[in-house]
Amino acid sequence: MERATPIGFEKVVREVSRLSAKSTFQEDDVTTTSSVLGKKTRIFKEPAPLAVHGNAAIISVVNQKGGVGKTTTTINLGAALAELGRRVLLVDFDPQHSLSVGLGVSTRNLEGSIYNLMLDESTKIEDFLLKTNVPGMDMIPSHEDLAAAEGALVSVIAREKVLKRVLDSVSDYYDVILIDCQPSLGLLTINALTASKYVIVPLECEYFALRGVALLVDIIGKVQKNTNPDLEMLGILPTLYDRKTVHSREVLERILEAFPEKVFDTIISRTVRFPETTVAGEPITTFASSSAGAAAYRRLAREIVSMGVAKDSPVSNRPIASAGGI
Ligand code: ADP
Ligand code: MG
Repeated sequence: MERATPIGFEKVVREVSRLSAKSTFQEDDVTTTSSVLGKKTRIFKEPAPLAVHGNAAIISVVNQKGGVGKTTTTINLGAALAELGRRVLLVDFDPQHSLSVGLGVSTRNLEGSIYNLMLDESTKIEDFLLKTNVPGMDMIPSHEDLAAAEGALVSVIAREKVLKRVLDSVSDYYDVILIDCQPSLGLLTINALTASKYVIVPLECEYFALRGVALLVDIIGKVQKNTNPDLEMLGILPTLYDRKTVHSREVLERILEAFPEKVFDTIISRTVRFPETTVAGEPITTFASSSAGAAAYRRLAREIVSMGVAKDSPVSNRPIASAGGI
């Protein structure tokens, strides 16, 4: 008898998961900081659709450590925000281009990437935007070339503001722009922070997670002082959380102690579904729509909108401290 190939099986799983448009995952099952601390679960309601688009909230997803969930967060938070009717742009800002790969873009056949947009002023961003399989979510790909940009930018005037110039030209169209940063605090990351209004820092719930965060906070302070006084820490996102281990909980408690006002209520648990989505080249919200991981990123999207991001009303009307989960 012929055996089904793994590829055939994958296809079937994908088709089936696409049939369930809405998450069947219970809200109560998403791990949250309030539930871990034994507090009442917070509810973030589905926001109303936007009457007006544009004035994009630009958010950098940053941590100089690799493997903490920056790219996974950028893709899946973006997809969840797009499901809420927000116009989303993802910027792959890592020369290793995992975001492009994670969305099924082969960098071999690219006409150009964020690198060209930054270093050649004759290029137009409209020519480099790619549609993703998620309606309402576009992306700008990256390329290995971007690694050379740090050196090439050194001689450019206002070298910290180059990405800002590129993104300003489309911020009237999008509601949210998410920048997936590389694992370093060099000139590219400074460019991302200078272009942004907000920072999200994914922190993995493992020992030593907080190591290096002081340096990151220091860099954010320097950017606020020198190139971007409007920059705000939106929140620290606990990732790769393992409900079964005591140490995940201990690390979470230490993160909450270190940043009492700034930890998102939504926690991203560790699940094998995420690595699978990379292979599939699509977000978990479409690949495994009713999974726990999809529910967690949908909740994070609602939490972020509840903080005043990507709303019709001006963002500055709502104090950021009113959200965050503690
Ligand atoms: P970064 O961009 O910070 O380097 P990634 O988002 O690429 O991190 O994640 C690193 C690896 O961990 C990837 O293989 C990804 O699929 C996996 N991963 C990310 N988030 C989770 C999660 N919540 N559970 C399990 N694996 C995850
Ligand atoms: Mg990455």
